[in-house]
Parts: sequence; structure tokens; C-alpha cells
Amino acid sequence: MTWVTGADGSPYGVTNLPYGVFRSNGGQPRIGVRIGSWVFDLAGAEAADLVLAAGTLCRPTLNDFMALGRPQWTSVRQRITELLTDSAHRPVVEPLLVPLDEVELLLPIEVADYVDFYSSEHHASNVGQIFRPGQPPLLPNWKHLPIGYHGRAGTVVVSGTPVTRPTGQRASAEGPVTGPSVRLDIEAEVGFVVGVPSALGDRVSVDDFADHVFGVVLVNDWSARDIQAWEYQPLGPFLGKSFATSISAWVTPLDALAAAFVPAPDQDPPVVNYLRDVPHLGLDLRLTVEWNGERVSEPPFASMYWTPAQQLAHLTVNGASLRTGDLYASGTVSGPDRGQVGSFLELTWGGAEPVKLGDETRTFLADGDTVTITATAPGPDGTTIVLGEVTGTVRPAR
Ligand code: CA
Repeated sequence: MTWVTGADGSPYGVTNLPYGVFRSNGGQPRIGVRIGSWVFDLAGAEAADLVLAAGTLCRPTLNDFMALGRPQWTSVRQRITELLTDSAHRPVVEPLLVPLDEVELLLPIEVADYVDFYSSEHHASNVGQIFRPGQPPLLPNWKHLPIGYHGRAGTVVVSGTPVTRPTGQRASAEGPVTGPSVRLDIEAEVGFVVGVPSALGDRVSVDDFADHVFGVVLVNDWSARDIQAWEYQPLGPFLGKSFATSISAWVTPLDALAAAFVPAPDQDPPVVNYLRDVPHLGLDLRLTVEWNGERVSEPPFASMYWTPAQQLAHLTVNGASLRTGDLYASGTVSGPDRGQVGSFLELTWGGAEPVKLGDETRTFLADGDTVTITATAPGPDGTTIVLGEVTGTVRPAR
């Protein structure tokens, strides 16, 4: 129980406590933690010696705090919980609570490297059927390693940032044409944020996932399908993806998700040694995708074939080092049913089956459209916690 007004029973109660960076009245960026409809100003709390984190909570992003490592992440979370639950602290803590509707939420991390995987068997199979009809839906390597690519860290933006329709080349019967994308899409994903780095040449074991990964964000990997289809062979995604990737303003710490780890789908054929994670655990995150306010899909993250621990081990098996602020996303989250897909490519089956939104129909995104991705997770003792949303509105091409 917390003494914070309105927070008990809210999905942002004291068992959740996601971290973010906010600004109020045009001031400097400050680290805070969300409780109910308030932001607890952790920069103010550390300045007043209420929380001790080596000064890292007074910085403009979460990176220095995330670099401290799991023992400090856990002790700071315990201290914040104590401050918000023991009413003896109320007189000094309450002045540090800022109403959420009075703050601007900023990008919570300085993104170091950005990697995007492709770990949903349902998504990969759907895309295979749409793009390579009559052939096996999965390519021969897919069940042997988590497929991924390196994306563009500098264009990762915080939820709420407008997304300008990208311009680029696409194929046509008369040859390539250049112009605004006409097949702009989303990809609903879950992202993992690295806190503790690794040394160049080292390999991070599947067992060390929780020592390196600080927490989870929701991701929208905006995708221009027409640009992507023309450019992606033979080297993979490039300009069809790099124009913008949105993440939630709130980073949910792994400590808040302890009750959400569930057995991941069995893997057949068996995976090679460095990918063998025991226990083999995914996360029971239930995503929703809203298109102009209408819920069009509910992708289940628990159905992902490759786990975040396997993705991290694969990302470093060649000795590539991790940096604080690295972000690796899961790939589009799609379940087995049409109402569970994480992209409009799948929802409209390549644009062949438009969906109805109110009085209008859509295949891909129109200018002015807004997409919002949210998620819930099991919390302790049968409760439910909410992950911060990721939303964005499409602006016309420039
Ligand atoms: Ca993606």
C-alpha cells in the first residue's frame, strides 16, 4: 500500500514504478519514477539524500544509473518503495511528486546501438507467405538463430513524437520511382535496454541476461513496406526502417516483471549450446494496437519463439561488446490469429484485405493517423501492471 493519492489499485501502483525522464515548466531534464498519475522527482530525491545512487539520478538520462548494475537497481527500487509506502516519509517526499499532466516526457535513455530481431514465428511465417507465396514460409536458418539487423540509434524517438512520412525509392512496372511511401506500416515490438556493458571480445551467456538488461520499453518500428521491398535484397532493412523508431517514455525495470516470466514455446529442432537457456523463459506481456483509437489487434508476447536471453547471447556470440544504452527489440510480435498480428502488412494481408476503421477503410497508414501500442503484464499476487504506451501520429511527407 502506498500513501500516494490515487495510486493504490492503479496499474501504476507501487509494484510497477517505471523510470522515465521528464521536464516541467521548460526546465532541465530530470529522472523520475511513475506512481499513479504522478512523477516522483528522483533528481530532487537524490539531491536531498533521500535516495542514494552515486549521483546518477541527477543526470539527464537513465544511462549512468543503468550502468551501476543489478544490486544498485534493486536497492534503489527498494528505497523508492519504502519512501512511497511508509507514511513517515510523506512530509519530505510529497513535495517531490509532480502531476503527470504537468510534465513533458523525454527520451529516457541515450540510445547507444540499436538492434532489431525477427523472433516471432507467426510474424516470420506470415511475411514469408505474403512475400514468397508457394515457398516454405520460414527460411532454412530461422529456427537455428535469432535473425536480426543493426538499426539506426540516432532516429529512436520518444512516444508522442510525430513521424514524418518517409520519401524514397520504390519499384513500379515502369521502373523505380521516388516519392513519399504509399505503404507506411507499424511493427509492434518489445525492446530490451542494456545497462551493464561487456568487453570487446567477450561473449554474454544466456544466464547473464538479468545482469546486463535493466528493463523493457514498448517499441513501434515504423516501416515503409514499398521502400523496404525494393531495397532489402541482398543486405536487409535500410531506409525503409531508419526514418523513425518510437519507444515508450517509461522503462519498466525487470524487477517489476518478476511475475511475468513464463515458459517460452518449445524449440524444435534443439538449439545449439550457446542459445540453450534453462529455464527457457519469455514474458507474458499482452500488447494492444490501437489505430485511430480503435483496437485492431492484441499481440501476445509470450508466443515469441526466441527469448530475450537468447537474443542477447546471439548478439554477443561473435565478441561484439555491449554498451550502456544499447536497445534491442524483439521483432514484430504476432500471435497465431489475425486479431493478434503486430503489423498492418499482416492485418490487411499485404494490403489485399482492407480493415474498417469507423466510416473509413485502411490498408496502410494515412497522413494524420495515430497508432498507440500498450501492454499489460502480470504483477505480484494476481495484480496487473501496465507498461507505458508508445504512440505516434503520421505527418505528411516534406
Ligand atoms: Ca522490426
